[in-house]
Amino acid sequence: MHTGDGSHYHSRDYRYVLRLSGEELAVVRKYRDELVACTAGFAEVFYNYLFDNPGIAEVLYAYEEEGGDVGQFARAELANLLASIAGEIGGQREDELLSAGRRYLQRNFRPVWLIGAYNLLIDYMHTMLSGMEIHPADRIALDTLLTRLLLREMGITLEGYWMQARDNERRELEHIAGRLGRVEDMLAGVPHLMWSVDIDANSLVYANYTLHLLYGEGMISPLPCIGDTHEEDRQLLLTAWQDAVSGKRTRADVRIVLAGDRERWYRVSLYPETGQSGRPATVHCMLEDVQNLISEREQLQSLATTDRLTGLPNRSLWSDHLTMALAASRRVPGSQVVVISLDINQFKMYNDTLGRDVGDTVLCDVASRLRSTVRESDSLARLGGDRFGILLHPVNNAREAAERIITEIMDKFDLPFAYRDKQLCVSLTLGIACFPDDGSNEEALLANAESAMQRAKRNSLPYQYFDPVNDVSPAEQLRYSGQIRSALDNNEFELLYQPQISLDTARITGAEALLRWKHPVEGIVMPERIIPVAEQLGLITPITNWVLVTALKQCRQWSFQGAAIPVSVNVSARSFQNPRLLERIHWALQEAAVEGDRLVIEITEATLMQDIDRATELLSSLSEAGVTIAIDDFGTGYSSLSYLKRLPIDTLKIDQSFVTDVAFDRQDIAIVRSIIDLGHNLGCKVVAEGVENSMTMDALDRLGCDTAQGFHISKPLLDDHFSTLLGQTDRQS
Ligand code: C2E
Ligand code: MG
Ligand code: MG
Repeated sequence: MHTGDGSHYHSRDYRYVLRLSGEELAVVRKYRDELVACTAGFAEVFYNYLFDNPGIAEVLYAYEEEGGDVGQFARAELANLLASIAGEIGGQREDELLSAGRRYLQRNFRPVWLIGAYNLLIDYMHTMLSGMEIHPADRIALDTLLTRLLLREMGITLEGYWMQARDNERRELEHIAGRLGRVEDMLAGVPHLMWSVDIDANSLVYANYTLHLLYGEGMISPLPCIGDTHEEDRQLLLTAWQDAVSGKRTRADVRIVLAGDRERWYRVSLYPETGQSGRPATVHCMLEDVQNLISEREQLQSLATTDRLTGLPNRSLWSDHLTMALAASRRVPGSQVVVISLDINQFKMYNDTLGRDVGDTVLCDVASRLRSTVRESDSLARLGGDRFGILLHPVNNAREAAERIITEIMDKFDLPFAYRDKQLCVSLTLGIACFPDDGSNEEALLANAESAMQRAKRNSLPYQYFDPVNDVSPAEQLRYSGQIRSALDNNEFELLYQPQISLDTARITGAEALLRWKHPVEGIVMPERIIPVAEQLGLITPITNWVLVTALKQCRQWSFQGAAIPVSVNVSARSFQNPRLLERIHWALQEAAVEGDRLVIEITEATLMQDIDRATELLSSLSEAGVTIAIDDFGTGYSSLSYLKRLPIDTLKIDQSFVTDVAFDRQDIAIVRSIIDLGHNLGCKVVAEGVENSMTMDALDRLGCDTAQGFHISKPLLDDHFSTLLGQTDRQS
């Protein structure tokens, strides 16, 4: 054996199959010199063979391009071929042949080319022998022997070729095994579970170490973890598997209990691999622990949608609920949604005077009281600051549902809250808007609920339903904000005067000044749209000042006309709270040069009750100046009788809502009668507002009302029309 590298070449096998013995080879050696001399012409045959065969030529050129010396190569190979004829079969020769074979493979020679070369040499040799002088007894033996010898040489060269191929393959395999080993080591260290499934056979063709550790032999294919998967998630996992089998990469997050640990979230990723048939043949599966990821995600989500202090949903989540509620309601005809905006009264005071932590506790307590009033299907949220929101849905009767919850909330807030050693009475103001009547989308509904709430606050009422006339939308506020400022400068405001007549004498006893805005684009804008915006924008004071002076100057005109009647001016809550109001009134009286008794200040019950101490002081001063005080819209607020008795009030104006049907509605009759009685008992004059027909007027007269104001007598009039009317009634009388 001369292979030197442990391959399977055996010299003796060749001797055996080719029947070559030492004595026989002696015949070849006998003619060796002659043979060698004759082969000189073979070189040309060989070179032609090399370069005429395109496959060989191509390999040789490539060798040349890599820097090899083709000439030297060809010479060496020729020498090697011709050496065959020398009849050497010793170990050295065999080694040479084997390494030639190896070389051929390394140089990308194909075995068939080698056979071709030997074939040429055999042919050449036959021709050569026929021309040589050989002893007749030797000729056949020499011919046969040379052929066998060449076959042997070729065979050993091919063995070398084959050995090299096997070595290459072995090295390749070792290399692959090394890499596989490293991959395997790596996979063993991976905490994920990994496995591959042969789809057709439904068997696991690979399972990583961790999976083996968990499930051992006999794992269930294709999803070993299916039995440990949460019941609710199993279908999800099976659907993912079906998707993978049909060629889709999928993943599913499912809850699994692994090895008796507690339930955790795992992500199962499935990667199908297409087989030779073009269909998915294998699915590679991976299961990784995503509990932390999901916990973090949930935490983030909850941070983004929950108010941290109260644990209630925040505005953004609440908006989503509202969107969903509206969508659901649109699908069911007749179904409604109630949107309630709630605000804590005087919250700023708790925060400022008792400290932020008390403020926070108030917020939490309010949240928990509110929580106990809403049903599961309703949704409660903290919208920010001391603002809360409630959604009731779906409801068939929005008013009824709202009333129910309002009552419950009022009851819940009747009891005081205890803070340290203090008892705090916390109350809320609510604004209500209903879908679909009060808005068609989330923004409009919420804005309208807030507007209604703002109005309730202004009037010190516990709650108000949205009213398109009285509630100014934020968009409108924005639209008017710049314009109101310039309206005063541009003389766009004007006053109308509505007469009040004595039911006894039918004479005009006074007039109420009512504000109008001659808007350059929108036409006449009513006070109910101006006043709230002006209040909110802090522009009410200049308006009130203008109204006071203008109305009083007009009053002075009337007195020149011979009608010594007072003018009533409405003062809004914000204006009433202004500490300079008294000063402004004195200034206006002076400016118009009229006495205080020509002025009636109308304030609502709510305004009056908002700050009773201030009201008492201001009204006393006004009274001293001879100014008359009228309580407007009487009956709609919550006046305390004891205050009414103490305050210098001259007039009660019964709200229109009681007056309209007083001719026939027994309840309204009873109310109006008691207001008139109350007013008279307090020493006040009683005015009925909104008298629209003679029946009402008669009814009021019968009930003993003093004065009437309303469309039946006259609509609010421009100043000159009012003066004309004054003249007419004077002439009539
Ligand atoms: P108010 O003081 O209660 O004024 C009476 C309202 O009833 C006026 O509406 C008047 O036009 C209306 N009215 C009078 N008679 C009838 C009637 O027979 N039927 C009906 N349906 N309505 C009648 P207007 O002018 O729209 O004013 C609305 C409110 O705006 C006033 O209610 C008052 O609170 C406020 N306001 C008006 N002018 C001013 C002002 O200069 N300053 C302030 N702060 N508020 C004002
Ligand atoms: Mg009024
Ligand atoms: Mg009124």
